[in-house]
Amino acid sequence: MKYVQEAYDTNWVAPLGPNVTGFEQDIIDYTGVVSATALSSGTAAIHLALILLGVKHGDEVICSSFTFSASVNPIIYQGATPVFVDSEKETWNMCPCLLKEAIEDRIANGKKPKAIILVHLYGMPSKMDEIIWLSKKHDIPIIEDAAEALGSKYNNQSMGTFGEIGIYSFNGNKIITTSGGGALVSNNIKHCERATFLATQSRDQAPHYQHSEIGYNYRMSNIIAGIGRGQMEVLEKRVASRRANHAYYKSHLESGSVAFLEEQKGCFSNRWLSCILTKSYNQREKIRHALINENIEARPLWKPMHKQPIFEKYQAFTNGVSEELFEKGLCLPSGSNLTTKDLDSIILIIKQNIND
Ligand SMILES: *Cc1c(COP(=O)(O)O)cnc(C)c1O
Repeated sequence: MKYVQEAYDTNWVAPLGPNVTGFEQDIIDYTGVVSATALSSGTAAIHLALILLGVKHGDEVICSSFTFSASVNPIIYQGATPVFVDSEKETWNMCPCLLKEAIEDRIANGKKPKAIILVHLYGMPSKMDEIIWLSKKHDIPIIEDAAEALGSKYNNQSMGTFGEIGIYSFNGNKIITTSGGGALVSNNIKHCERATFLATQSRDQAPHYQHSEIGYNYRMSNIIAGIGRGQMEVLEKRVASRRANHAYYKSHLESGSVAFLEEQKGCFSNRWLSCILTKSYNQREKIRHALINENIEARPLWKPMHKQPIFEKYQAFTNGVSEELFEKGLCLPSGSNLTTKDLDSIILIIKQNIND
């Protein structure tokens, strides 16, 4: 409220101003990245990232299949073609073996992918060593979709800062929020400078309005950035409470019947959502319906992109992992404000319905 009030008091009610600059600096300080551009959404950030990497009509872009559709849509905005890569079981993120297969296949067909959109789903870091190695070997830049992974780290480095470009989302459902918003980050300051230029209608340096390129209205407003500055101050607390939710669920539910996603060596997850993997579709549905009957929302995991009606026509390198996760997985209530009493009642319902 302090930052938002300041914006009104100083009449900085515009898509620029001290909160925007301050919020970008907060993101830089927190993640250790070199530069950041605050934008209207995570989707806008992915769209600009593709433009910055020169993705054009007819190009191919590799993308995690197990994700939210916003990871993919900007590929289509550019008239490019997605190539989906399935997950592996240890992190639920992009499988390095399938990524290798996909890259080699596309190169052999004369269609070297222009970029890799790598998603750290539910806050869990992907297999960075293997994926970065492949990206370097084939000289294909990574766009890290860290929309769900602000506060997550791999070998103590913030997710979103490994790739050529990283993106964050501050949508209402993310670990911190500006109600709606996003950021594009990079260790190459030129990317952020150009992202800011493109996001503010690509205005050339001139006293009049002059444009040599197509622009976008993707900048974050100074009011919204005020919410972001306040939220950055509580981010560590939010990560701690999400992790506590997960630890509590795990200690009370881990048994032969439901499995939790473990943090692999070097991984630190913000545990944005606590997810379980049940034994079968029937068991998952029984638990989900029992929760709904008590007015508790719980959703299946993301439906893989290669199974979505709008995307199923595109090429996909699959191994059945994300399809199985979609069939048997459940996102549990994961809000930072859940009380122990809330958690206990959720756990009780799950325990009562764990046998299918
Ligand atoms: C939320 C989300 C996005 C999109 O972010 P918006 O700010 O909602 O546009 C992209 N990718 C993933 C994985 C997300 O969860």
